[in-house]
Amino acid sequence: MFDTLSDRLTSVLKNLRGKGKLSDADIDATAREIRIALLEADVALPVVRSFISGVKERAKGAEVSQALNPAQQVIKIVNEELVNILGGETRRLEYAKNPPTVILLAGLQGSGKTTLAGKLARWFAQQGHTPMLVACDLQRPNAVTQLQVVGERASVPVYAPEPGNGVGDPVDVARRSIEEARRAQHDIVLVDTAGRLGVDEEMMKQAADIRDAVTPDETLFVVDAMIGQDAVSTAEAFRDGVGFSGVVLTKLDGDARGGAALSVREVTGQPILFASNGEKVEDFDVFHPDRMASRILG
Ligand code: GDP
Repeated sequence: MFDTLSDRLTSVLKNLRGKGKLSDADIDATAREIRIALLEADVALPVVRSFISGVKERAKGAEVSQALNPAQQVIKIVNEELVNILGGETRRLEYAKNPPTVILLAGLQGSGKTTLAGKLARWFAQQGHTPMLVACDLQRPNAVTQLQVVGERASVPVYAPEPGNGVGDPVDVARRSIEEARRAQHDIVLVDTAGRLGVDEEMMKQAADIRDAVTPDETLFVVDAMIGQDAVSTAEAFRDGVGFSGVVLTKLDGDARGGAALSVREVTGQPILFASNGEKVEDFDVFHPDRMASRILG
């Protein structure tokens, strides 16, 4: 996903190599090139601004270092600033003191929530947890079946409304699922919610009602990195409508520019916890800001 950005940044930084000393003009020129590379990759403007001012300020104020030449010093600063906008330290999930730990998945339809639910279920099970999936997307025909397929593949049970009982109330299903998790001693509950193709008040209200019914330990906002600039406005809408404690980036295997998704952490203040990079259940990992920065800087 970040190949073009990566190529641009590495070539900008390569131009610095071999310079014995960097003038302020060199730093300004480099900053300008980096700015263009970030904007072309769809990184949100406020994020670009704070990134560039951080790099400039630190590069100009950098002490002469014995260990690093000036070019290496700038590369180090760019790397550290990139790690910073991606969230700094890897943020681990918060587990409930008294199980079950409840994790709510929210996001637009097609963002990859159901696929992610399966990946997370398998990931937790591999670590010795006893997860349960909950089908609260009762709007989309087939959504329950899709989750059941995902659950079967991960060998994780799915809590869903009884067939034949009509559509069912997702808030009610969510509430009852917690009782079921306690009874059957599942220590993790993963609640899949309904999304729409665009941000919609009714969907936000339903997600907020489900949130109130289950009081999640984590609410994860799932965002498709392929949607480009809309990633930021969608994140803001979910932050205001439902609130979330973490972000999951999906479809990082795509070939869109992806910079908007990288801006979500800085714009919303909430950390990126996981990344999904394919349709298969194993195409998924904990998000490490430092590894992502190294990947982008080549
Ligand atoms: P939901 O509507 O949010 O539950 O989204 P789904 O989980 O149904 O995913 C929508 C589509 O995106 C499906 O075709 C998935 O196979 C696909 N998908 C989900 N995650 C990824 C990913 O990381 N990479 C790719 N390439 N496709 C994905």
